[in-house]
Amino acid sequence: MESVLKIEHMSKKFDDLIVLEDINLSIDKGEVVVIVGSSGCGKSTLLRCINGLEDIDEGQVLLDGETVNPGNRNLTKSREKIGMVFQSYDLFPHKTILENAILAPMKVQKRSRKDAVEEAMRLLDRVGLAERKDSYPRQLSGGQKQRVAIVRALMMDPEVLLFDEVTAALDPEMVREVLDVILDLAKQKRTMLIVTHEMSFAKAIADRILFLDDGRIIEDSDPKEFFTSPATERAKRFLRTFEYEK
Ligand code: ADP
Ligand code: MG
Repeated sequence: MESVLKIEHMSKKFDDLIVLEDINLSIDKGEVVVIVGSSGCGKSTLLRCINGLEDIDEGQVLLDGETVNPGNRNLTKSREKIGMVFQSYDLFPHKTILENAILAPMKVQKRSRKDAVEEAMRLLDRVGLAERKDSYPRQLSGGQKQRVAIVRALMMDPEVLLFDEVTAALDPEMVREVLDVILDLAKQKRTMLIVTHEMSFAKAIADRILFLDDGRIIEDSDPKEFFTSPATERAKRFLRTFEYEK
């Protein structure tokens, strides 16, 4: 298997608070890795350090063997290859869905409008939103906006996609439609790192589960193993909090 993303001895502090400690991770092309752990354990910071939104204190992040964090001259170029979707979709309110999708590819990648529009329409169609291309974000539901945010990330043709609790702010009836889009991406063999509290989704989509506790990866396991017999007492306790879902 070919490793796309490598994290070596990465540590991160906010002042005196150690948020990530000696993170080591290698992710293969096409692999879907789900990160779980209690609130505050460092999941968002881990994703933000991977795509260079946060400086790191020690170690490095490599994409295709090139350092993306700590930053170098190629940082912008390499960062483009890492797409990220957040809990809040951050679409431009005064631009249509189509304009939101084509903005970065045209500006950053200098792609022609015709090219970008074609690609955007193909992707919007894939997530069931082609007919909403001229709508504005406020005219869409949360689930629809999140699907547009995913399209916007895909427009940059990223090598790795990071998802940070993308369904956490959605009404329950909209969660499914967004998770289905991510499941579809897994089928297309996209390399993804997904932070989620949706445990049945995690079980269904993950090739591998990382359990983060207090800034450390304390389990890196096969999903079956993790959900049936987690190795640590911390993970057992964490999973018990989801038992009402079954
Ligand atoms: P998670 O996503 O797992 O809930 P976070 O990565 O958001 O956790 O946060 C990990 C820890 O880092 C928490 O203790 C949080 O309070 C702290 N933290 C996150 N961002 C900052 C920041 N910008 N400044 C200071 N502390 C932060
Ligand atoms: Mg978080």
